[in-house]
Amino acid sequence: MLCQPLEVFYVYLLYVQIIFVENQDNTLFSSFDSEEVTFFADLILPIPVPKLFTYRVPRVMAEVVKIGARVLVPFGKKNGRVLTAIVARLHNTPPTGYQARYIDEILDDYPLITSYQLELFKWISEYYMCCIGEVMNVALPSGLKISSQSKVQFNPDFDYPELLTEFEAALLAELKKHPALSYEELERFAGEGSNIASLIKSLVGKKAIIVFEEVREKYIPKMVRKVRLHRNYEEKEQLLVLLQRLEKLPKQQEVVMRYLSHVPIQHTPSLNEKGLDKTILNQDDELSQSSLTTLIKNQVFERFDIIQPRFSDNAAPQAEIKLTDSQRAASLQIMAQFEHQNIVLLHGITGSGKTEVYIDLIQQALSGGSQVLYLLPEIALTTQIVVRLQRVFGDKMGIYHSKFSDNERVEVWKGVVSGQFQFVVGVRSAVFLPFDNLGLIIVDEEHETSYKQHDPAPRYHARDVAMMLAHWQQAKVLLGSATPSLETYYQAKQGRYGLVELFQRFGNATLPNIVLVNTQQEKKQKTMKSEFSSALLGALEANMERKEQSILFQNRRGYSPYMQCEDCDWTAECLNCAVSLTYHQRDAELRCHYCGHKQSVPRTCPTCGSTKVRTIGFGTEKLEDQLMIFFPKSRVLRMDSDTTRAKNSYQQIIQEFEGGQVDILVGTQMITKGLDFDNVSLVGIFDADRIIHFPDFRATERAFQMITQVSGRAGRRAGRQGTVLIQTNNPQQPILQKVIDNNYKGLFEEEIKERQDFNYPPFTRLIKLTIRHTDRAISHQAAERLAAELTDALGSSRILGPEEPLVERIRNQFLFDILIKIERDKVNIKAVKTYIQDRINDILTDKGLRQVSIVADVDCL
Ligand code: ADP
Ligand code: ZN
Ligand code: ZN
Repeated sequence: MLCQPLEVFYVYLLYVQIIFVENQDNTLFSSFDSEEVTFFADLILPIPVPKLFTYRVPRVMAEVVKIGARVLVPFGKKNGRVLTAIVARLHNTPPTGYQARYIDEILDDYPLITSYQLELFKWISEYYMCCIGEVMNVALPSGLKISSQSKVQFNPDFDYPELLTEFEAALLAELKKHPALSYEELERFAGEGSNIASLIKSLVGKKAIIVFEEVREKYIPKMVRKVRLHRNYEEKEQLLVLLQRLEKLPKQQEVVMRYLSHVPIQHTPSLNEKGLDKTILNQDDELSQSSLTTLIKNQVFERFDIIQPRFSDNAAPQAEIKLTDSQRAASLQIMAQFEHQNIVLLHGITGSGKTEVYIDLIQQALSGGSQVLYLLPEIALTTQIVVRLQRVFGDKMGIYHSKFSDNERVEVWKGVVSGQFQFVVGVRSAVFLPFDNLGLIIVDEEHETSYKQHDPAPRYHARDVAMMLAHWQQAKVLLGSATPSLETYYQAKQGRYGLVELFQRFGNATLPNIVLVNTQQEKKQKTMKSEFSSALLGALEANMERKEQSILFQNRRGYSPYMQCEDCDWTAECLNCAVSLTYHQRDAELRCHYCGHKQSVPRTCPTCGSTKVRTIGFGTEKLEDQLMIFFPKSRVLRMDSDTTRAKNSYQQIIQEFEGGQVDILVGTQMITKGLDFDNVSLVGIFDADRIIHFPDFRATERAFQMITQVSGRAGRRAGRQGTVLIQTNNPQQPILQKVIDNNYKGLFEEEIKERQDFNYPPFTRLIKLTIRHTDRAISHQAAERLAAELTDALGSSRILGPEEPLVERIRNQFLFDILIKIERDKVNIKAVKTYIQDRINDILTDKGLRQVSIVADVDCL
């Protein structure tokens, strides 16, 4: 939803512009002596309202509160609602129009949100037409957003009971009895008059509890308790003095000796840094336990914790990489281009070893002392690449993934602040991490649409945000892809980005041989078996005989997308959406892929009673099913969002496939991303025509990317060329020839011409407005009015619609789209956005249209 229109909207815009520039040293006033002055803080609250809120700073906090720190504040009429807010500005002007309330508690003694981030939040809210609170909401892991909606759980890794106050210990004992308690339950337990906010703050600080927002998969970081010798004893002489001193305390001496036998700092002092697992030193005997405790108390040893890296199981340390000549050349060219370009595109074919080039550049940036961010699409991150990176960077690398719990994300966040993680590999939301010294940002698979957040706001594109981030911190950006987005390649061609090409596969492996299979013809000759051409079946069989693996790609999940009556043409449709229900055989139900609605499968037609109800079309489930029939002895795995819902299931499927016992992997576009298997020599692609003819101006580009990427999974090792079979009804389609020839440039030339002729990106920027309401007439009325107003001001050539989208009703809301095309130059895009926002606000404040929802999607994909 867009932010609530408020009469103060303009004030807000003005406001925001001045907020972030002042107050250099971040604290309120280093010395304040006037009794009368009251201090105020303007806060970002994590809610969709287009303004900052002014709160009073209690006197006792005036000296500690800092811009960028989090505070807890009461919010709303209902007493007791508490939210975490960010301090954006400090001053002493009371707000007009309302009585400022007091801040409850300051959560951070130092700015957890850097000035860069505040700047970024503001930029995103303006550019992507949303509220700064919505940006905050997405940017901060919920573990950093304690609210009255939060839940709290005991941290099973906690073992410093000596740090607790008596009351905290009691609270913790209570907490241990429950899986989790809500904020309110804690409040009840603590009793009248207790300051629950400061209690939580204290317990979080001591790592005794974990705060999270909703009960979903909770991941508790595996902490490794470690000890190391105090820095004072790293020097050989000091160490000898220590050992002499301990002569009279043989037990303690033994513990130190045991440490030295594992960590021989007498030879290599730098080893001390990493320390030793506490358990190794304890070795279960009580005497050494108590000796160790004494040694810690006497500051001979110090304790510290590290987070067990998630992927460490398979990560054998330090595989030495040696770049190939062409990789080395690419790396050098990139460095050379960075001399005069801030952004460089690495156009490297699949299997060329782009990752190795990245690693080389990351190492250089890190050794220069700057931070590095490596962005990957969601799904690619969970697996192989991370293991590879971990071999090189070990626990210096933070991993930021949405599948990980808040808790773990909080650890990464804090690790970036503390300097523990100079290098983070992460998904799109990693752009929100508190970097302050970035030297390099890598955006791998930059063409991936999953870099764009669709819902909720902010609808940001991580690649583009990364460029802003880099701009502010004077970092370089490396975009990488085998199939760059047209937008990016165009910028490179125009000379605005650098361009480096890597067109050799690693180890002289060749790109696969791509063959088109004419399904039209096979149907005529009756050689198709269900969805499989005889060509594909033959190839699969031969491949299995050679004990090689195959991947089959169908970009549709479920068994079949339609269920229809043969007699009366009834089709199963969703009650809430204008879309057919997909049949899922495994669970024997019909499902809506838009709203999640489920219903059982009718035995007879609900309209005419006929028993001839059949399925039409096919998804991954059906392919899997049929493979079992055609190849009963084979092992088939399926990878789509149905089979990967459970935690770790994605990794499991990949590991199993990697292990080699599996013959065929069937999957949706999930299998196109970054997977690297040795033994895959055949890829089969179904339904290519549907991908190519999707009604969207980007369809050709997408089809090329998708087919090329999935083809790239085949034959990644030297010695055997892989094969790709594409099933199509029309082998004459020009795009297929371009895929076969790996002719990206040809595709680019043709597409870019069309884009120019029809005013599409990269020549324009798109803003899509989606209008929805449960009453179609009202939705339509609002859309018509908005379109008319925009056309008046911007001209009809810039406005398309309103139009009903492909699926015109979702969750019982009727949708209309308006597409706005704005030239890249000569137009003040900022002013246009303000104008659009004003028109939207007009509509939303119109009595009859108030319930309409209007969503703006800037740079929509
Ligand atoms: P891309 O991302 O360009 O598709 P990858 O980076 O996944 O390619 O590399 C393909 C495969 O080749 C990987 O298994 C990788 O480990 C291997 N590889 C690439 N370059 C080297 C190298 N210089 N030394 C050893 N292995 C390499
Ligand atoms: Zn019927
Ligand atoms: Zn639905």
